Amino acid sequence: MQFHLNGYRPGDPAIAEPYSVMTALPALPGEVDVLIIGCGPAGLTLAAQLAVFPDITTRIIEQKPGPLLVGQADGIACRTMEMFQAFGFADRVLRESCWINQTCFWKPDETRPGTIMRSGRIQDTEDGLSEFPHVILNQARIHDFYLEAMRNSPSRLEPDYGRTLLDLVVAEAGPIHRVTATLERRDGAQVVTETVRARYVVGCDGARSFVRRAIGRALHGDSANQAWGVMDILAVTDFPDIRMKVAIHSASEGSLLIIPREGGYLVRFYIELDKLAVGERVADRNITVERLILAAGRILHPYTLDVKEVAWWSVYEIGQRLCDQFDDGTEVAAPDGAGREPAVFIVGDACHTHSPKAGQGMNVSMQDGFNLGWKLASVLRGQAAPRLLGTYSAERQAVARELIDFDREFARMFSAAPKRAGDAEGDGVDPAEFQRYFARQGRFTAGTATQYGPSLIVGDARHQALASGFVIGTRFHSAPVLRLADARPMELGHVVAADGRWRMFIFAGAGALPEDNAAVWSLCAYLLDSPASPIRLYTAPGSDVDSVFDVRIVLQDVPPEMTAAAMPALALPQKGKYGLTDYEKVYRPDHRAGDIYDLRSIDRAQGCLVVVRPDQYVANVLPLDAYDDIANFFGGFMNPCRTIVDRREPAKQVLFSEAIRT
Ligand code: FAD
Repeated sequence: MQFHLNGYRPGDPAIAEPYSVMTALPALPGEVDVLIIGCGPAGLTLAAQLAVFPDITTRIIEQKPGPLLVGQADGIACRTMEMFQAFGFADRVLRESCWINQTCFWKPDETRPGTIMRSGRIQDTEDGLSEFPHVILNQARIHDFYLEAMRNSPSRLEPDYGRTLLDLVVAEAGPIHRVTATLERRDGAQVVTETVRARYVVGCDGARSFVRRAIGRALHGDSANQAWGVMDILAVTDFPDIRMKVAIHSASEGSLLIIPREGGYLVRFYIELDKLAVGERVADRNITVERLILAAGRILHPYTLDVKEVAWWSVYEIGQRLCDQFDDGTEVAAPDGAGREPAVFIVGDACHTHSPKAGQGMNVSMQDGFNLGWKLASVLRGQAAPRLLGTYSAERQAVARELIDFDREFARMFSAAPKRAGDAEGDGVDPAEFQRYFARQGRFTAGTATQYGPSLIVGDARHQALASGFVIGTRFHSAPVLRLADARPMELGHVVAADGRWRMFIFAGAGALPEDNAAVWSLCAYLLDSPASPIRLYTAPGSDVDSVFDVRIVLQDVPPEMTAAAMPALALPQKGKYGLTDYEKVYRPDHRAGDIYDLRSIDRAQGCLVVVRPDQYVANVLPLDAYDDIANFFGGFMNPCRTIVDRREPAKQVLFSEAIRT
């Protein structure tokens, strides 16, 4: 973490300097750049990302009177932890959460009918998949961390609670603020109607999304056909795996999923309940928590369960359903040959729903928000063309489709009666097969299997062989390195903060000195000086050289006497109001932790350039001398930059491209 660039400042460095001094947030303005509907994990991820940009007016509204306090989802995949690292609170989640290290499988004990026995135990996450574990923490705490990140951001963004979206109208063309939202605010007994016009509205309003309906999109698939019970309990039990994640198939009492929770005592039980009739709501069944406790006790037999306290419980119905498109854009050719750019997006449960068993709902919803956030910011700040926004639906709809397919099979196997030994014909599921399926899908449930296809912002695989461990379209798989300037061991991926910047990782070929590694020095010179360089073209004059593209160099061999001072100028940028030198751009392998060149199969002879998107996905792998490819890649969606003055604070001379503000 770097701070003090613009002068020494006492206090918590995680709290950014406010963009302007405000005593309190103003009431909802009549016009905003982005209006987010819903303070679930999807909305808060998006809001935390946009809050980094004080030049963008963002508001997030929520119908509830205040933040979530208990319940809902709790599983946090490795990939989500990587994203939390980018938002700056992964360490706090690590400290507070329960870590899932192994998963156990239990099945009917055929030698003692009516009882269960352990049938298997597997490592939960394969070695080397991520530097982070799979952890469990209450969704409400995740909300808290996001809220704190927003509060500490330059925008000091706070949600506007107690406001419900009632109506949404999108103008076909015309004003910049094309979307008009009508909100209802409850102030005690008083009900006030507010109108907000927005350039973009994002519906993060959950499975019954109003925004989805307002833009004419619908969820397709199996309707809510399965009732589930979930309870967080403090209990005394002799079940031996109570602090493990456990999937239990009983012979005739149904299935149970046990999730150990943070703090060492709390545990969550997911209990599969009845199939629902078409159109039936689980609320109509009047299921009580006593019924859940009795059902769990029967499944656990012969082990005992004495529930002392129920911290939270819920019953809900779930089906696998998906929207065809996650925005209101059209591809239909207009007279001028162009479709309509999207102005409204839907994110998270608003566009995909599935069972909670694989713990994906919250994770996938947050990744949706992360995917959209930097794209909206780039377009609003004039850095990128609006067509960038079309990649949100294209990328995330494909991910959600895979999730629905996975979940359908996972739910089928979880719910099916266990096959008895020697019963080859029955339609039950062999517990060993379920265990194998679970292990095989480990990368998927960890969130690391996502791979975006080639697009405006994902290159093709022509040069993939230069770094086959940084798979184009997948998340940048971090690896340990040493920082050259201070020999600090660290994870290279942790330099990718959620700040909207692109990263260019230059992996040098063999040799460290300029004469050994001319390709690195030439590439740096090109990036710094060439009129065709993306840094020159897309970075506003007068702003720090790394404000749009953050270039980092990894050297293979470094003579002991070599210091960061011997590096090219681009790797020692002078920044901030004092022109201080940033020494943290150069790294070398950390041989004690594993050589990054071996870990990620980087071509030692040629080296390579790995381009990483602001949401941590590998956009391209290119040879070090592929200058035209670099220029063409960014030229495909970025706007050349021109300095203009922020209308609201002319004295600050904030730098934007003209595309947005005029
Ligand atoms: P949500 O978390 O649903 O957030 C949507 C937000 O929008 C809500 O805060 C809502 O109040 C607000 N909103 C809706 N309409 C409006 C409106 N018109 N105006 C203003 N605000 C509005 N997943 C699991 O993995 N395990 C679980 O045990 C589990 N339990 C759940 C229990 C419940 C009761 C619910 C609702 C969900 C549960 N989930 C569970 C699912 C998981 O919480 C979701 O997948 C995840 O929260 C999705 O995040 P989201 O931000 O897309 O939507």
